[in-house]
Amino acid sequence: MTRNFSAALCSTVAAWMTLIAAAPAAECPRKDALGTSRILAVDPATTPRVGLKSFPQTLPLADHEVVLTFDDGPWPATDRRILAVLAQECVRATFFLIGKPASEHPELVRRIAAEGHTIAHHTWTHHNLKYMKPEAAIGEIDKGIAAVETALHGKATTTPSTPFFRFPFFEMTPATLDALQNRGIAVFGADLWASDWNPMTPAQQLKLLTERLQVARKGIILLHDPKAQTAAMLPAFLRWLRDNRYRVVHLVPAGAKTVSDKPQ
Ligand SMILES: [Zn+2]
Repeated sequence: MTRNFSAALCSTVAAWMTLIAAAPAAECPRKDALGTSRILAVDPATTPRVGLKSFPQTLPLADHEVVLTFDDGPWPATDRRILAVLAQECVRATFFLIGKPASEHPELVRRIAAEGHTIAHHTWTHHNLKYMKPEAAIGEIDKGIAAVETALHGKATTTPSTPFFRFPFFEMTPATLDALQNRGIAVFGADLWASDWNPMTPAQQLKLLTERLQVARKGIILLHDPKAQTAAMLPAFLRWLRDNRYRVVHLVPAGAKTVSDKPQ
């Protein structure tokens, strides 16, 4: 190899590498991935409650825009599969975590956050808060928040770094709703769900969810990450979203730094 040829090759490789670094595809290794189309900042002050299954209003999503939410984790067996699928498709989701398993698997909580997903809150042990006294219900909520914050940042604060909360079973009372609104914590319902608490095959799960989405055409979708049938369905569901021109919107709290959260 001549010196000139070597130099030319080096400069070609350098130019090629610059091109790759500058191209959006570098952020998403799979060229035909579903991707995340945009980031939506949610401000609890102006958007205290969302989700048409529980409230009259929801997020300002356009036709064919969906938000993926996963409840009841962290759950190592299924989360590893789910995180891998989301990463492969460059999709970002919101995980409503339960405090007790979060305290048992803090490394998984940190991994979910490190992979760019939003970490939200779902109580300490998933009690039905509707049948608890208000102070006990707030205690369940705060213990859950503190456990997740401890896993994330090593600090047992009851001020969530992402002020998003979802009631177990969507069972709420005016007193707990008011308490959360006064603390600037947005309450999430859902616009549609997969009913994945009912046992079914991944194929049945996919059919049910896509049929519902074809009716709703957009919305906050509720899934459960500990469910094996949901984890098994997810690759086909994300492909279906892409093939049917749906776009995934990633939620973040208003005011959050999104420098590294460029849409992919
Ligand atoms: Zn739940």
